[in-house]
Amino acid sequence: MSADADAPVVVIGAGPTGSAAALLLAGYGVPVLVLDRWPTVYPRPRAVHLDDEAHRILGRLGVAGEFAAISRPALGLRLVDRDLRVLAEFQRSTAIGRHGFPEANMFDQPELEALLRARLTGHPQITFRGRTEVTGVAQDAGGVRVGYTATDTGATGSCRARYVLGCDGAGSLVRESIGSRMRDFGFDQRWLVIDVETGADLGQWEGVHQVCDPGRAATYMRVGRTRYRWEFRLLPGETARDYRDPARLLPLLAPWTAGVPAEELKFVRLAEYTFRAQVADRWRDRRVFLLGDAAHLTPPFIGQGMGAGLRDAANLSWKLASVLSGALAGRDLDTYEAERKPHVRTMIRFAKLVGTAMTEGGETGTLLRRVIAPRLHRLPGLSARVLDSRTPALSRTSLVVRSPLGRGLPGTLCPNAVLPDGRRFDDAALGRFAIVTGVEPSAAQRAEVERRRGLVVIAEPGDELHRWLRRGRTTAALVRPDGTVLRTARTPAPLCAALPDLSRAAFPAAPGKTC
Ligand SMILES: Cc1cc2nc3c(=O)[nH]c(=O)nc-3n(C[C@H](O)[C@H](O)[C@H](O)COP(=O)(O)OP(=O)(O)OC[C@H]3O[C@@H](n4cnc5c(N)ncnc54)[C@H](O)[C@@H]3O)c2cc1C
Repeated sequence: MSADADAPVVVIGAGPTGSAAALLLAGYGVPVLVLDRWPTVYPRPRAVHLDDEAHRILGRLGVAGEFAAISRPALGLRLVDRDLRVLAEFQRSTAIGRHGFPEANMFDQPELEALLRARLTGHPQITFRGRTEVTGVAQDAGGVRVGYTATDTGATGSCRARYVLGCDGAGSLVRESIGSRMRDFGFDQRWLVIDVETGADLGQWEGVHQVCDPGRAATYMRVGRTRYRWEFRLLPGETARDYRDPARLLPLLAPWTAGVPAEELKFVRLAEYTFRAQVADRWRDRRVFLLGDAAHLTPPFIGQGMGAGLRDAANLSWKLASVLSGALAGRDLDTYEAERKPHVRTMIRFAKLVGTAMTEGGETGTLLRRVIAPRLHRLPGLSARVLDSRTPALSRTSLVVRSPLGRGLPGTLCPNAVLPDGRRFDDAALGRFAIVTGVEPSAAQRAEVERRRGLVVIAEPGDELHRWLRRGRTTAALVRPDGTVLRTARTPAPLCAALPDLSRAAFPAAPGKTC
């Protein structure tokens, strides 16, 4: 196997996380080598839900429109008993939310991965090498050596990189190579996951059904036009193999599929998964980083595993591009783990809580759910809380300047608002820094922002960004390339001074300086 030319960044693993990281880095002009053991995308369905924050990241990868075409907004969540009687319903609007996309999107993971792979292989800055099993990652003072074996010929080879991103999934070799260990959050449940394709109309409500049955917890949802997903908790002693027998499988689905002839149900997948809650104890060792499932695993009850990987990619890619171009210092890369780890922990705890509340407690739990659930929607604000797609603010770092009490906008995402020229914020910012301000900057400040390749967005009274600044009790915000607020101020002056100088960086050229 011939050695690959040295690359500034080698991404190991071309799943959703690795593909997103490679595309974002390439968008900043960074040449990337992507290695994966498989030549094509992993064909088995796994993730079925992405929120609007993640959809927004797909927008930055250039596939938002294509993703919208293969996904469908979900109507919300129903808690049902074992006979599918509704205990509680939390309805979600399918309208466009603050990030410019529906808040909950149902889809089929291989279809999304195919979109990402097409972008990846077509990008001039990205070299994709499939059938390449990475066998070793070793660091020295000058960089990282990545060793690999061709899975078809058995030939071995290696390349050097300045940075390596370990996006190699749950069984990560990169994680092992940096001596990082998964910390367990105490969740271990075996579930049967069933994906069905059918042209028949099941006549079900088009949201997520959570079956609160102490005998067997289950989840059902429509994923696509002809695609449906069920997840059933396996009982002790059961395995997925037991359900290959239609005499056992069909009764499980009968509450939803009654009246549909068995031959009209095509079983795309029937697999056993152990849902775990784990976070790696370190996500960085010098020039090697962990992202996605290599760094964290969550039970899928709130559909956030892949979204977390996309958020990792969005958080790290602009920082790495800035360090490679000299606009940020190497130590700023420590903010990646400092910001992302607490966010991931909070989301995993929430997923665990939701999973436990819906599935545990035996008959007592069921009794409580039966009494409490029908009243839940009457609790002021609870429905909004259950359905709110907003995720926690990022922790305080050198790139999230917030008060110790953590109030205000820093660490939160700037809305993807429609600007006066009709574009959305992200389409104008194009992954650069932006100063959003209700106070007009001086001509000199504007010139300096322009020189540093940033963008000024004026928030006009009454518009969405103006209301957002007011709610955050501020008048100006410095927004990072990943959409997160770095800091706020009463005037643009301190924000202009804090804007990193990207004039020498390969950030996208400014198409228009002011909006
Ligand atoms: C049943 C189920 C339901 C889920 N539902 C949701 C959901 O609704 N929403 C959600 O957001 N998430 C969900 N998830 C989680 C989601 O599927 C994962 O979080 C996501 O696939 C992780 O992406 P990744 O790129 O980090 O890792 P992976 O998808 O695992 O990709 C890793 C890549 O690395 C490659 N690789 C690994 N080792 C090597 C090596 N040594 N050399 C070369 N290549 C290597 C692999 O071939 C693979 O392509 C669900 C998961 C399951 C199992």
